[in-house]
Amino acid sequence: MKIHVIADKCQGHNRCYVLAPELFDVDDYGYATAANDGNVPAEMVDKANLAVANCPEHAIEVLEA
Ligand code: SF4
Repeated sequence: MKIHVIADKCQGHNRCYVLAPELFDVDDYGYATAANDGNVPAEMVDKANLAVANCPEHAIEVLEA
């Protein structure tokens, strides 16, 4: 699985980071980017899907399922 945060949509809620801190980096303003170039380890897929579903801005896109 591979994910990407659409910077223009991200509003810095940090919900993704709270749900899956292993998968996201946040800057000083709370804006997120996908950690590890967006590559999601197999054991983290459920957490990644949780973050995708809980982003209020729909800013996390799935590039590869
Ligand atoms: S939950 Fe969505 S809008 Fe909030 S920081 Fe994460 S990617 Fe950005």
